[in-house]
Amino acid sequence: MRDPQPTLVPARHGKATRLRAGQAVKLVNIHGTQVVDCWAWNARDLAEHMSMEATRVWNQRLNPVVGDSFVTNRRNPILTLVEDTSPGVHDTFMAACDCHRYQRLGVREYHRNCLDNMHEALRDIGLEAPQPILASFNIFMNIAVQPDGRTLATKPTVTRPGDHVILKAEMDCIVAFSACPQDIVPIQGQGDNTPKDAAFMVLDEGFPDLPPSATWVPDRSMTS
Ligand SMILES: [Zn+2]
Repeated sequence: MRDPQPTLVPARHGKATRLRAGQAVKLVNIHGTQVVDCWAWNARDLAEHMSMEATRVWNQRLNPVVGDSFVTNRRNPILTLVEDTSPGVHDTFMAACDCHRYQRLGVREYHRNCLDNMHEALRDIGLEAPQPILASFNIFMNIAVQPDGRTLATKPTVTRPGDHVILKAEMDCIVAFSACPQDIVPIQGQGDNTPKDAAFMVLDEGFPDLPPSATWVPDRSMTS
């Protein structure tokens, strides 16, 4: 059995790993304050990647709950959320931060960003992302839908130190994480908005073996 050694995702940086179908990755919010962006690709064809827009159709949910699968731009399940010890507040709406975002926020110099972290993380394991993907799964990010049902509020994380999520691989895949470098918009928790380290472990066992979720289809009994 592979020893589940933790891999650090240093503050403001990214890390990627390979997963075989049936393995899982446990992402730990060490300090409880850090937003971690996540992407995934089919290991056999990096043109197929995890898609937030297709996942919202699949689950008919704004954000995933335990048991929900993430699907690709070809509508194949790629990851399933099988465990979540956090309050379950995550985000699928917001684009990953990139250099243009920081320029718009008034930053003059280079600012580390999640999109560059995604590319760096893949290059670290000898891969090249075929295209930038702004639609990341923003783990622990607190984007609250307001009572009008359409307005969003960007808030700090509500996660506790040591909270984790476990994502099971539904296909051989590559998963990348970025400890989001955002330090201007207050999204990191506990007041100081300082990006901090996160960590992940690849697991062969010891996690709930939930099946991939089935896609939503309309209730045809209502129209027949
Ligand atoms: Zn970011």
